[in-house]
Amino acid sequence: MDKVVVITGGSRGIGRATAIAAASRGFRVCVGYASNEAAARQVVTSIEARNGKAIAVKCDVGSESDILALFKAADAFGTLGALVNNAGIVGPSLRVDEMSAGRIERMMAVNVAGSILCAREAVKRMSTRHGGQGGVIVNLSSVAAKLGAPNTYVDYAASKGAIDSFTIGLGYEVAGEGIRVAAIRPGLIDTEIHASGGEPDRAHRLSHMVPMKRVGTAEEIANAIVWLMSDDASYVTSAILDVSGGR
Ligand code: NAP
Repeated sequence: MDKVVVITGGSRGIGRATAIAAASRGFRVCVGYASNEAAARQVVTSIEARNGKAIAVKCDVGSESDILALFKAADAFGTLGALVNNAGIVGPSLRVDEMSAGRIERMMAVNVAGSILCAREAVKRMSTRHGGQGGVIVNLSSVAAKLGAPNTYVDYAASKGAIDSFTIGLGYEVAGEGIRVAAIRPGLIDTEIHASGGEPDRAHRLSHMVPMKRVGTAEEIANAIVWLMSDDASYVTSAILDVSGGR
């Protein structure tokens, strides 16, 4: 039977493209979404239109109870074979000395704690130590982890730095238990995340700073994610791959 992949934030952007690419490679796709149910349903419909299998499950990864419900729904859908920790948020451009505690806490709760808690649930199911059949965890980092995002969102960059360390450490921890863990560091990708930070045109405005002189597409990130999920990447773990046009 085809394995299930849980994709957090699978309703739009990179998560949506990954859901469609994973379905085309035979995964049963559990599409997590925070609030945009219509977008999540549209992803499910487009997968089903191509004879794939998908379900949509509401899950704010800032909530542990939502995460437990997401994995319970995934269990009912089939055997878990992969997790894509894709859900992530930015905030309006601010200096650190202008940021509220609430903003910083939410950034860390969603981008860091949410990814770690989802990975915990995935390891419980996939680790051979717990009777599982192995699997793959792909985390979404960002080139911001290396650039620091000064005057914009240093808190976001720091959350992605945490994802890089988490990827390395968890990968070592479960390498002998059939689970590979890797991260992608996207560069400037054309999605709605920039609008959510208050600047819809941000990626295009900064594209001249990319060595390849263009923004990337969600599909270009999804292609790297599904490669990491595949047996073609069978010797890849604790690894972080820049998919950034050289940025
Ligand atoms: P996006 O277009 O803004 O889409 C965000 C997705 O995450 C949506 O499906 C959204 O669900 C979901 N989401 C938002 N908050 C959530 C929460 N609290 N819990 C669960 N799901 C939540 O984002 P994107 O550009 O595709 O980014 C995806 C990942 O790539 C993020 O981790 C981001 O940091 C990373 N990344 C993006 C870029 C870029 O340039 N786009 C660059 C580097 C890294 P709803 O539809 O329900 O709102």
